[in-house]
Amino acid sequence: MADKFDVVVIGAGPAGYVAAIRCAQLGLKTACVDKWLNDDNKPSLGGTCLNVGCIPSKVLLESSELYELANNGIAEHGVDIKSAKLNLPAMMQRKQKVVSELTQGIAGLFKSNGVSSYEGHGMLMAQNNVEVTAHDGKKQALEATHIILASGSHSMEIPSAPLDGEHIVDSTAALSFDSVPKKLGVIGGGVIGLELGSVWRRLGAEVVLLEAQDSFLTMADEQIAKEGLKLFTKQGLDIRLGARVVSCEVKKGQVDVEYQHKDETCHEKVDKLIVAVGRRPNTDELASPDTELILDEWGVVHVDEQCCTNLPNVYAIGDIVRGPMLAHKGSEEGIMVAEKIAGHHAEVNYDLIPSVIYTTPEIAWTGKTEQTLKTEGIDYNTGIFPFAASGRARALGDTSGMVKVLADAKTDRVLGVHMIGPHCSELVAQAVIAMEFGTSSEDLAVTMFAHPTLSEAVHEAALDVRGNAIHIARKRK
Ligand code: FAD
Ligand code: NAD
Repeated sequence: MADKFDVVVIGAGPAGYVAAIRCAQLGLKTACVDKWLNDDNKPSLGGTCLNVGCIPSKVLLESSELYELANNGIAEHGVDIKSAKLNLPAMMQRKQKVVSELTQGIAGLFKSNGVSSYEGHGMLMAQNNVEVTAHDGKKQALEATHIILASGSHSMEIPSAPLDGEHIVDSTAALSFDSVPKKLGVIGGGVIGLELGSVWRRLGAEVVLLEAQDSFLTMADEQIAKEGLKLFTKQGLDIRLGARVVSCEVKKGQVDVEYQHKDETCHEKVDKLIVAVGRRPNTDELASPDTELILDEWGVVHVDEQCCTNLPNVYAIGDIVRGPMLAHKGSEEGIMVAEKIAGHHAEVNYDLIPSVIYTTPEIAWTGKTEQTLKTEGIDYNTGIFPFAASGRARALGDTSGMVKVLADAKTDRVLGVHMIGPHCSELVAQAVIAMEFGTSSEDLAVTMFAHPTLSEAVHEAALDVRGNAIHIARKRK
């Protein structure tokens, strides 16, 4: 007999688990089906984000940064540490501990909110039924008034670099290397390439990033991306643009990567190679064909602004639908759908999704880039403030980068805020909040910011839109 629910969610990543919890909070009888098993073959909620994505990568970014600081940088503060030693097993254990605590936390939240958890593969069947196939093969039918699909994504593979799990690997394996590769190659100079490349460079690897495109970080503001390229290169990340990998061969424990750079055929020998060229939605076995769920040729589920699919009462959220593959975007879609099911009005502001790259310096932005404004023919004014002029950045000893505010030339409404520098992952929230309320650059300029803080750079960049920044030396006419 089928178990009956108001809502069944397939997938317990940041899109699905948030949707399930919000549905339960709103009084809906909710179940969530997830098939993730950890290394001990135990169910582990939280999806890619908690198990092998956002969280473990950020743990390693923090730990590796401390290691680098201890060896190189802390002496500047008058603290002498005689050669800090790396204990990689302990670093990995700590990462796993954080992951376990958080994934168990989701199980606890399900319990306290009354979400029924089902372990196994969920498949959407006709007439709003879900079939769950547990890992032991047992099947269970669930019946639901509403179904939310949130099955997430997996790393994309390319024929020129087939994964072998040992030398050529995806991001998941690169979060658990048991030793620091002497030379590490990464195919893809995107977010994962930069974050994981930074982790292993800080821990001692020589890192080469092979990026197919001729320009760097095309989704970011061009000026910020250029600054990033300069700073990452200075740190020792060897970023090669316009590098198209043709083939890879594993020989004597090394990967010989052949790539095309302009008209030249080049070779690079590395000990490990990470393939980080984007992700694909997990939609191959998500819906039985007779449901006629519409997907595009990449497997992306077709949805409208409100995440409704072509099937009545079936929604899709997170990495399986259009838009950036980001945890917070999926979570907000989960909340929107839960509210909608409960009969409330809700929407997601897709224009103000914050993006962050957790390198050092961090890169973060929201709203439109300067190149987009130019393409769209929108007149704008620019304000820029360098962290080198920030007292707090000087105190930190981390003065690279800047904050840039782009405001509409006619209305002064802030259209984009872009930043590279210390703690930008936190600073960008100010821009999102201000822009959500339709701020003008003048509103930001007349707002008081505490001193000395990095946030003052946001204030000064807003002042600079009218040429009124205080801490920038500029000759007046
Ligand atoms: P997922 O998190 O992928 O969760 C989907 C879940 O559904 C999984 O548990 C899966 O096992 C389960 N599932 C799939 N199919 C079925 C099925 N048929 N039945 C049952 N269960 C199923 N994003 C950020 O915003 N910030 C970051 O810092 C960040 N860092 C990242 C670092 C790395 C290394 C990676 C790989 C990704 C990172 N991301 C980051 C992206 C982020 O992880 C994803 O955007 C996010 O996890 C997507 O959430 P989701 O719920 O849509 O899917
Ligand atoms: P990405 O899209 O950020 O970068 C992939 C890069 O690989 C691109 O620059 C692309 O031009 C390049 N590329 C593609 N094919 C190539 C090839 N054959 N040879 C060389 N280069 C090639 O993807 P990713 O880094 O794999 O990350 C996947 C997703 O996970 C992203 O969409 C991102 O949003 C998400 N993520 C987010 C964060 C974060 O928010 N901090 C961190 C990690 C991952």
